[in-house]
Amino acid sequence: MHEEMKAEMMAEKGTRAIEYFSTNLKAPKVSFEEALLRGLAPDKGLYMPDRLPAIGEKLRARFPGMGYYEIAAHVLSAFLGDAIPFADLTSMCRDAYTFDVPVEPAGDNLFILRLDQGPTASFKDFAARLMARMMNYFMAKEKRHMVILTATSGDTGSAVANAFFGLEHIDVVVLYPLGEVSEVQRRQMTTLHGNVHVAGIDGKFDHCQALVKQAFTDPELDRIPLSSANSINIGRLLPQTVYYYYAGSRVCSRPDSPVIFSVPSGNFGNLMGGVLARETGLPVHRFIVATNANKEVPEYLRTGVYQIISPSLMCISSAMNVGHPSNMARLVALYGGIMDEKGNILRQPDLERMRNDFHGVSITDEETMETMAGVWKEKGIVLEPHGAVAWKGAVEYLRENGTHSRNIPIVVVETAHPGKFPDEVKKATGTLPILPESLKTIFGKEEQFDRVENDYRAFKKYLMNMFF
Ligand SMILES: *Cc1c(COP(=O)(O)O)cnc(C)c1O
Repeated sequence: MHEEMKAEMMAEKGTRAIEYFSTNLKAPKVSFEEALLRGLAPDKGLYMPDRLPAIGEKLRARFPGMGYYEIAAHVLSAFLGDAIPFADLTSMCRDAYTFDVPVEPAGDNLFILRLDQGPTASFKDFAARLMARMMNYFMAKEKRHMVILTATSGDTGSAVANAFFGLEHIDVVVLYPLGEVSEVQRRQMTTLHGNVHVAGIDGKFDHCQALVKQAFTDPELDRIPLSSANSINIGRLLPQTVYYYYAGSRVCSRPDSPVIFSVPSGNFGNLMGGVLARETGLPVHRFIVATNANKEVPEYLRTGVYQIISPSLMCISSAMNVGHPSNMARLVALYGGIMDEKGNILRQPDLERMRNDFHGVSITDEETMETMAGVWKEKGIVLEPHGAVAWKGAVEYLRENGTHSRNIPIVVVETAHPGKFPDEVKKATGTLPILPESLKTIFGKEEQFDRVENDYRAFKKYLMNMFF
């Protein structure tokens, strides 16, 4: 970790409230509430906690006896301190996490963490539902209103739209690339109406993300109280540390025994959640960083050269079609480097340590389909494309490191319900997956969305017409 960052993070250990600094280091530190409501820092950096709390062995030893929402309240409270009183936090967590979190044994010390039982059948429900409740908490307290602006390559948008749907103090605008999300993903957003506004953009996900980023830094839009809800918001990141602790408590025999996670990665919010869990106490032996053909990060780990893939490649694990992950700056910061928002590395992080902690692997669409077919045939387990990328990543990892790691449990993170990818599942297994109850209702409903040109001025006009 380089000196400035170290100074930021180490300053005044102890009881002082954790503050949030920008990865670009050119904006003042802020409270959790401000970081949550701002999303992006004014210098375009991403907020990170200036010190990491310790979630000690004594507390972790109690996790096996706790339900998901209780673990969530404890883990988040370590980061938030007095920003939200523990009792309020507990009731928000109980309200957000009303669904199962299965950890499924899959043989050979492999487990599947199924994060697909929420209302949109995607792991993004975990982050979005709690973030929405935290934002609503602060808005209600201050009698304010806000507009959430977010870009989606598939699952973020529906999870965010559903998480905020019906909240009194918040409107939501979701941008998605026309023709790049599945029908189910689209209908999950476009059938809500009310305070959820959906804009289809003639372009790719990266274009949507660029429009959102430009709007946030446009002074002429200052009158609209914009905030973000995609993976750059620290309020989305922190809840994602919880399921790592939860899974660890379910598969490890003791609070100090190691575990390996295989994480299907796109914008790297999921992985960052895991890294924060590890940095605060969870004994993670290694993360398998599994991407599809958008392999800029595995290549970076291999070569030390970071090269954005633009435009991003279209793969069947469509929520991971990202050519420059928005959370890379955070990952680099945690390892002592500086990366600006364009992906330029201003200071190299500790690559040796990164290579030790992360095993990068890129999986092709062919391998993804073969994995879905093989796992179904051999084990009777249904995976969807994102989970299959993670599974194949674990298989590759074991091939290279098996002798050292065989007695450490590997948790494969399955990020979506197979029912959201009926075509791929049918092709791989020969049978149609069962649709979760939450997704069955969207087919009878009317869709409502706007088409917006892939052009900043057109997008700005769209926003001004709606909110000025
Ligand atoms: C968003 C998403 C991912 C990628 O997660 P990141 O946090 O962006 O790395 C993987 N799988 C599914 C199903 C997703 O929706």
